[in-house]
Amino acid sequence: MDGLDFVHVGAPARVVFGHGRISETAAEAGRLGSRAVVLCTPEQRDLGERVLGLLGPAAVGLIDRARMHVPVDVVDAAEAEIAGWDADLIVAAGGGSTIGLAKGLTLRQVRPTLAIPTTFAGSEMTPIWGLTEGGLKRTGRDPAVAPRTVIYDPALLATLPPQVAVTSALNALAHCVEALYADDRSPIVELMAEEGARALMEALPRLGHTTQAGARATALYGAWLAGSVLGSVSMGLHHKLCHTLGGTFDLPHAPTHAIILPHALAYNAKAATSAMIRLRRAAGAEDVPGHLWRMGQALGIPPGLGALGMPEAGIARAVELAMRDRYPNPRPLEAAALEALIGSAWAGDPPAA
Ligand code: NAD
Repeated sequence: MDGLDFVHVGAPARVVFGHGRISETAAEAGRLGSRAVVLCTPEQRDLGERVLGLLGPAAVGLIDRARMHVPVDVVDAAEAEIAGWDADLIVAAGGGSTIGLAKGLTLRQVRPTLAIPTTFAGSEMTPIWGLTEGGLKRTGRDPAVAPRTVIYDPALLATLPPQVAVTSALNALAHCVEALYADDRSPIVELMAEEGARALMEALPRLGHTTQAGARATALYGAWLAGSVLGSVSMGLHHKLCHTLGGTFDLPHAPTHAIILPHALAYNAKAATSAMIRLRRAAGAEDVPGHLWRMGQALGIPPGLGALGMPEAGIARAVELAMRDRYPNPRPLEAAALEALIGSAWAGDPPAA
């Protein structure tokens, strides 16, 4: 432990974890406010209504229009709708899109948020917001948008379609992987990221089965750790590339992460020695990029970016855009190697050895 030298910023959230603990929504909400607006997606309106019922008289209304990537007009419409409700608390029940809407609203007017996540994306543990306008997604960090309380109830993930569960868990795993080589990581981030990676990789092979309640709980525990480290450190090549590819070619968030992860890790592996030691231990495998790629294939993730709708001609454009970004990454950005990385990910080939 010689040469320890770090800054650590941890998430101050209160975390309530356990099967069935959504039943504690009213008590947890009562610690934060007395007039709650509930947010959900149109697809999860049933959950929104359930939360409304659990809140009882503390609920002032439901907005069921959360959408992927938080379009600004959705935030505008929600803000206009709740203007007269005198709400002093937001309860966001859903995945990253619903929690993203809560963050968008909080940027306009600060109210505490109680998050009830239903995917493994991890947004509930971060101060990171994202807003999309005119086809461009802006992101930033603001401690005010981080939920104050999070209820993790693994039972809520039983309805997550297996394919969504798998790609969402791989998205969470990517947070742990990049935290392990972030240049602003701390010893506690390394502990959380390794344990998160271990839990997610243990659960992933069983997530495709609807009966595996234990796997969902283990993965949700991993997702909590993954979201915690995502909120504490800056991300590298993997996240920047997914952001660029998703925004430029309108690719779905979690499947893009699932496809890119083995390739981005292979790119950085030789320059990230201590991260690889922890990841090998977490995976119980020597060749971690290969292990992740084979696991993804066995779990039926989309084979490559081409299958997600990215045109092959877009590879050169993606490299050009990726080379414009400047951020800390274990291995410097090299155009030819990035072209090989994106080309393999496009075709669905295994990662470079
Ligand atoms: P999502 O919230 O967009 O959900 C995808 C779909 O699955 C939606 O239709 C949703 O209603 C449905 N769904 C969610 N949970 C379900 C469940 N348990 N059962 C049935 N259906 C369910 O997906 P996501 O991957 O959680 O979030 C992606 C978004 O979150 C992206 O916009 C991404 O940028 C953002 N994100 C932000 C952060 C951050 O820190 N700010 C972190 C991770 C992801």
